[in-house]
Amino acid sequence: MFEREKHATAAEANLQYADIVSKHKNPNDDLEDIFADKVRKQISAGDAEKREMQSAIREHEKLVATLDNCERCFDSAKLDKQLLVSLGDKIYLSLPWYMGLQSGHCILTTLQHAPCCTQLDEDAWEEMSNFRKALTRMFAARRQDVIFYEIANKLHRRPHLSVHCIPIPASQGEMAPFYFKKAIEESEQEWCINKQLVSLRQKSLRAAIPKGLPYVWVHFGMDSGFAHVIEDEDRFPANFAQEILGGMLELNPNAWRKPRKEANPIGKVKSFAENWKKFDCTQN
Ligand SMILES: [Zn+2]
Repeated sequence: MFEREKHATAAEANLQYADIVSKHKNPNDDLEDIFADKVRKQISAGDAEKREMQSAIREHEKLVATLDNCERCFDSAKLDKQLLVSLGDKIYLSLPWYMGLQSGHCILTTLQHAPCCTQLDEDAWEEMSNFRKALTRMFAARRQDVIFYEIANKLHRRPHLSVHCIPIPASQGEMAPFYFKKAIEESEQEWCINKQLVSLRQKSLRAAIPKGLPYVWVHFGMDSGFAHVIEDEDRFPANFAQEILGGMLELNPNAWRKPRKEANPIGKVKSFAENWKKFDCTQN
C-alpha cells in the first residue's frame, strides 16, 4: 500500500514536472535550438565546401595527368611528331602509328585537348571541315571515296578526339552508307530507347547530337552521314566503325584488333605529304 502510494506520487510528480516545463518553457530554448541548428549547418556547409575543394583539386590533378600522358595533345611529350602531316591553327593531320585500315588512313584531331567534335568551338569545327573537304578532294583525285568516323564514347574519361579518314575504292563508296545504316540500326537494339539513326543529310553533327552525350559519327565524303547516340557506353564496341569497314572491305580482323606497328613511318608520312601538298588547306 505504502509502496503503491510512493509510486503514484513519483509518477504524479513527473507529470507535474512535465506540465510545468511545458507551461514555462524558457523562450531562450528556441533561440538555443536555432543557434545549434545554425552551427550544425555551418559545420556541414564548411565540410561540403572542403569536400568540393578537394574534389576540384583531384579533378585538376587527373586532368593534368591526362594531358601529360595524352598522345594527341600538341604540347605533350607523348605526341609522336614524326607522324605529323599538316598543321593548322587548331587542327592537325597525322598518320596512325600502326598500319592503317587502308593505305592513306589518316587522323584529324585538335592541337588542344578536346573530347569530341560536338564540344569544339566554331573555329576549330570550321577548320576540321576544311581539312575534310581537302582530304575528300585529294582522295577523289585518286578515284577514291573517303569515310570519316569518330567514336566519342566514355567522355568522362576525357579522351582526346580523333576523326579517322579512310579512303575506299570509289566502286564501294555507294554501298558504304547501307553497311553503316544497317549496322547502326542493329546496334544496341535490345536496350536502346532513343531513335537509333540520325541522318546528317540536312543537318550537321553538332545540330543533331546534344553536347555532352556519347555518340558515333560517320560521314561519307562531304555529302551525307549518320550519327547515333550511344546508350550503353560500356557495351558499345570500341571498334564499331572499324568492324563495319573491315566487313565491307573484307579485311583481316587483326587489322583493327591487333594493329601492327608501321615499319617505315617516315617514308609513309613523306609520300602522304607529297600527295597532300596540292590540296593543303592550311596554305591559303
Ligand atoms: Zn590531349
